[in-house]
Amino acid sequence: MLRVAVIGGGPSGSCAAEILAKAGIETWIFERKLDNAKPCGGAIPLCMVAEFELPESIIDRKVRNMRMISPSNREVDISLDNVYGTEQKSEYIGMCRREIMDAFMRDRAAELGANLVNGLVTQIETGSNREGPYTLTYSDYSSGESTGESKSLEVDLIIGADGANSRVAKAMDAGDYNVAIAFQERIKLPEKEMKYYENLAEMYVGTDVSPDFYGWVFPKYDHVAVGTGTMQKNQSLIKSLQVGVRERAQKRLVNGEVIKVEAHPIPEHPRPRRVVGRMALVGDAAGYVTKSSGEGIYFAAKSGRMCAEQIVKSSQGGKIIPSEKDLKEYLKKWDSEYGTTYKVLEILQNIFYSNDAAREAFVEMCDDKDVQRLTFDSYLYKKVVPMKPWQQIKLTMLTLGSWIRGRALTPDTYKPVPSAVRDDEEVNAMLAVSTIKGGIKVGNKKAMPEAMRGGLKPPSTDKTPAVLSTNGSENLEEKS
Ligand SMILES: Cc1cc2nc3c(=O)[nH]c(=O)nc-3n(C[C@H](O)[C@H](O)[C@H](O)COP(=O)(O)OP(=O)(O)OC[C@H]3O[C@@H](n4cnc5c(N)ncnc54)[C@H](O)[C@@H]3O)c2cc1C
Repeated sequence: MLRVAVIGGGPSGSCAAEILAKAGIETWIFERKLDNAKPCGGAIPLCMVAEFELPESIIDRKVRNMRMISPSNREVDISLDNVYGTEQKSEYIGMCRREIMDAFMRDRAAELGANLVNGLVTQIETGSNREGPYTLTYSDYSSGESTGESKSLEVDLIIGADGANSRVAKAMDAGDYNVAIAFQERIKLPEKEMKYYENLAEMYVGTDVSPDFYGWVFPKYDHVAVGTGTMQKNQSLIKSLQVGVRERAQKRLVNGEVIKVEAHPIPEHPRPRRVVGRMALVGDAAGYVTKSSGEGIYFAAKSGRMCAEQIVKSSQGGKIIPSEKDLKEYLKKWDSEYGTTYKVLEILQNIFYSNDAAREAFVEMCDDKDVQRLTFDSYLYKKVVPMKPWQQIKLTMLTLGSWIRGRALTPDTYKPVPSAVRDDEEVNAMLAVSTIKGGIKVGNKKAMPEAMRGGLKPPSTDKTPAVLSTNGSENLEEKS
């Protein structure tokens, strides 16, 4: 019987292990930390809930409104009510805590027969020509001791589902990819502010929050995740960009308290090699996060499942060991199904996140109902709905018009968005005492490099932003 090790117990690993175990293949799934809270916004599309049979209990909030906020603070609601009407409430964007979602999917794979090992894989011997059999060395933490017990295991095939810092990718010489750096603070809010985010997520765009991506405020169970991302070349700016998000959203986050600070790399494109010998990469290890939206959870789960389905098929249900050629079939199917989606989102990011005029145009365009429908259909259901010719013409005119107006709307300075639950007098009085407790320090003015500013006033910080290590996720600070 075929022996498969899945390394990594995030969405990609669990979904792969589940399929293999269901087919009766001898499967091990390794997860170094069973209560791992992957730094993540935790937003998932509706189609994932049905497709991966996720229970409602893992969804903290059902968001029906995504509020886009432009550099000049123009606010546009991309709202499910606008697109699908107020009668139909079944559509939503799911907001999850990763520690809850990941544990559910991992435990399900184990219940179906996968051997769940609480262990950190430290070494992979790949055999001659990297074709296996493969010997894994790992520290087993199942006894609960902090120093794990060193063990080894021999397998015929490996699925690398071990995220952006993949050890499997190194062992198979998969080659490097560029990464973006994401930074996030989890902020606990007083009830009144939290109520405002009940059904709402916010996306901020502007040079102050990111030169090439967006900043976000996503609601979780009892707090909001506030963060931003930027390409690796700008990683030294990440903390000052986070200050930018905080400053813009400060009137909505008033009296919040930071309970966790975290950072993690996000792959920007697939690795040069995703299958070598009998080793295949899935999810972030392969590099399957989309540009523009930074979405990776669905694609991780889906790639894990597709790769495992290919293994089941090529091994005839575990009877024979699949070849490299067999495993590459999974890549062919993946690229043909999602290649265009990645390309289109990359083009959109290059156009609309390039400067503040383009960002103003982008937010203005999001006010259009056809644009909203297109956005939701492609995000929620992962399907590309062809536009009618008149819609295409309208969209082109809209793009041009917004592009021209965007230049005029570009602000000289960035200002906080108004509070949504208090009048100005009250919120200013509160801000005079304190804004957000804890997390990164916001104090003395420190300028961003001129090249980043585009002539605009920068956010302030009292520290030279630390360069974040991309070698593993970082829980930079944690409280309770
Ligand atoms: C700040 C931030 C916000 C994001 N927000 C969103 C969002 O809102 N929506 C969205 O769709 N995507 C988001 N993403 C992207 C998303 O988090 C990833 O695409 C997704 O987690 C990839 O899943 P995965 O299973 O491939 O890898 P991961 O989730 O990274 O899981 C890898 C697992 O492998 C384990 N592991 C690693 N090495 C070893 C080893 N040697 N031995 C044993 N175990 C190991 C880790 O502990 C981890 O549990 C965000 C990313 C970041 C950084």
